[in-house]
Amino acid sequence: MNYKIALIRGDGIGPEVVSEAVGVLEAVGQRFGHCFTYEDVLLGGCATDAIGKSYPDGTAETCKSCDAVLLGAVGGPKWGSDKPAEQRPETALLAIRKDLGLYANLRPASLRPPLADACPLKKETAQKGIDLMMVRELTGGIYFGKRDKYQTEDRGVEATDLMAYSELEIERIGRRAFELARLRRKKVTSVDKANVLETSRLWRSVMHRLAEEYTDVEYEDVLVDNCAMQLVRDPAQFDVVVTENMFGDILSDEASMITGSIGLLPSASIGDAVPGLYEPIHGSAPDIAGQDKANPIATILSTAMMMRYSFHLPDEASAIEKAVDAVLAEGWRTADIAESGVTPIGTKEMGRLIRAKVLA
Ligand code: NAD
Repeated sequence: MNYKIALIRGDGIGPEVVSEAVGVLEAVGQRFGHCFTYEDVLLGGCATDAIGKSYPDGTAETCKSCDAVLLGAVGGPKWGSDKPAEQRPETALLAIRKDLGLYANLRPASLRPPLADACPLKKETAQKGIDLMMVRELTGGIYFGKRDKYQTEDRGVEATDLMAYSELEIERIGRRAFELARLRRKKVTSVDKANVLETSRLWRSVMHRLAEEYTDVEYEDVLVDNCAMQLVRDPAQFDVVVTENMFGDILSDEASMITGSIGLLPSASIGDAVPGLYEPIHGSAPDIAGQDKANPIATILSTAMMMRYSFHLPDEASAIEKAVDAVLAEGWRTADIAESGVTPIGTKEMGRLIRAKVLA
């Protein structure tokens, strides 16, 4: 099969990790007989440098003409908050997600067996294993609601952010969660704050309606504060965790921490009938950019998600995941995950070893 992939290499370590991920895609193509072609897309600080804005015209159209999008990372101190919005990389990220209609963010948090020692939780907790999928609503809620800041007569300046959700928004993300659970251990945990928020009560009622439809999937409601505690107390209880935008932002970072390094975790953002966008959860790491120190595994595992969720190629996805685990099991480490006494390898060498395992 032929697949066309838009490559947003981005800033900082983005180009380095994307190069290694492309190398792994080539190895997958060779082993399984697929042809991947690539279209480079300029976005982020590098686009600001080249043409004066971080989100060039036509970016969404180019991405839509591809079967999937792979993004390294964008941003850096050079294009900080003192710059006008159209020059800031974050503006481009929000715009591309919106223009592609990517309303579901999937972040697996799994403890790779060879790295169990990197888990900051108690040994007996880590031994039970961590393998959960955080499903975060990405285009609604308080991050996209109306905001205001105004002077009051007696309380100084006041600011408001509106949190709004519609049944449509809740139902489509809820369905994604139940469908994903069917491919996994068949359990959905829906996280809300229904004891306080009206949006959460609506969220819960829609999720209950869906739970009645997906009777083969176990379902539970958990309040967000309890979920934050349970993630560090007993993460093994979770399979698919679905929640609204802001709760998901916070909980998915917490879930990443319990699995070790930020350099290991992939993510996918998907919508309906549009190319999914696959990216590591980390940023552009300007402190190590251009030094062959970045861990490419998160980006490489993002291509595994691309195989599974955009191209429906589960064997290819697990070939990538097994190659990563095999390299880690042999003891190879980049600096961010190296135990003391272990000499780390560089970005390129980690990529080369994983490619070799895919082909083995
Ligand atoms: P960061 O994720 O870039 O870096 C945090 C720390 O983790 C740094 O010490 C970095 O060296 C390390 N790190 C990150 N990825 C690594 C990897 N693959 N291998 C080894 N070490 C790694 O977060 P930050 O420093 O807060 O942000 C830097 C820039 O990235 C900012 O401009 C921010 O806006 C941007 N950012 C972009 C995205 C994105 O493109 N999706 C996400 C987060 C942050």
